[in-house]
Amino acid sequence: MDTYARFPIELVRGRGVWLWDRQGRRYLDAVAGIAVCTLGHSSTPMRRALSRQLGRLQHVSNLYRIPEQEQLASWISANSCTDRVFFCNSGAEANEAAIKLARKHGHQVRGIEEPLILTAQASFHGRTLAAVTATGQPKYHQGFEPMVQGFRYFPYNDIHAFEALLERCEADGPRVAAVLLEPLQGEGGVHPGDPTVFRRIRELCDAHNLLLIFDEVQVGVGRTGRLWGYEHLGVEPDAITLAKGLGGGIPIGALAVKASVDHFRPGEHASTFGGNPLACRAGLTVVEQLERQHLVDHAAAMGQELQALLADLVARHPRQLEGVRGWGLLQGLVLRPEGPAAADLVRAAMAEGLLVVPAGPQVVRFVPPLVIRRRHLRRAVALLERALQSLVG
Ligand SMILES: *Cc1c(COP(=O)(O)O)cnc(C)c1O
Repeated sequence: MDTYARFPIELVRGRGVWLWDRQGRRYLDAVAGIAVCTLGHSSTPMRRALSRQLGRLQHVSNLYRIPEQEQLASWISANSCTDRVFFCNSGAEANEAAIKLARKHGHQVRGIEEPLILTAQASFHGRTLAAVTATGQPKYHQGFEPMVQGFRYFPYNDIHAFEALLERCEADGPRVAAVLLEPLQGEGGVHPGDPTVFRRIRELCDAHNLLLIFDEVQVGVGRTGRLWGYEHLGVEPDAITLAKGLGGGIPIGALAVKASVDHFRPGEHASTFGGNPLACRAGLTVVEQLERQHLVDHAAAMGQELQALLADLVARHPRQLEGVRGWGLLQGLVLRPEGPAAADLVRAAMAEGLLVVPAGPQVVRFVPPLVIRRRHLRRAVALLERALQSLVG
């Protein structure tokens, strides 16, 4: 169906940070399937691990114990603030699970009949009906009304607006079950969360006994130079949702929660494919390689390098470019309103052999594989500069 405005290139092969189209043209990939291909394309450890797994077992139902799933869950709990994990297949599905958990928390812990979930404007949580309702962007709702009940929105990083909304919602007694937020808004324009605001939100969630859920679908699993986005904010959430980078290109999603809010009982939530041996082997391979290749520290170092290179680019083109913001290997180059549109710069970059992705109308996003090297970053920024010059003459 016609759901994507696709670029007219056909990618047929990949290796590391490089992709080739059908005509044999090579592209430096700073998109990585939108923050998915953590280890790059066709990495040797991933090829070996998945081939071995396919030779042993691909799929069994969650009717049975799945050792790969238990191992991956153990790794996530051992390396995060969470204790229990539910596996699914995508970011939207992970958020759906989180929304169900939040409602159960509202009913069971706070005694609310119709619990509310507070989310941010300009957020992105996926395209299924509840996840898209959680997404605070009217353009994604349009044409699909009625939306799911029970969501209220406030401007991201605005503590006064949050406090006012919470007070309004709780005026006649308990009404709110949870707050769902991205530690850094990715799709919404690469806006990092403000630690002061997030700390105050954490305090208020504690005071009211609300779940604080972080959507780590884009920022999680090392992308930002820390293993989890919440580490940049100095607060621990009660639950996180994961997907994109966790499987390195094999579909997997997860909801990970603290034991204290592990409200699901057998039969209350499920997924046929969720946590199958192949997907969990992919996840295990990603986290093994994160450790073996020290990719989280590497992402921090490369992120600094990329940010510095982009800041130099901004200094050379102050009339077109406004600035750069982001964490680690999730960086947004902000274009001036009077400069080129992000979509046009992305298209021009593609013509120069560089893949980048817009984050809203005025931000060009870099989310390369975490294995990217310094020389690739220099090349990427040089190609982007050429693209910019091709547009402004
Ligand atoms: C991509 C994304 C999602 C949706 O993930 P899908 O796998 O496309 O459903 C949800 N939340 C955030 C923060 C994302 O970046």
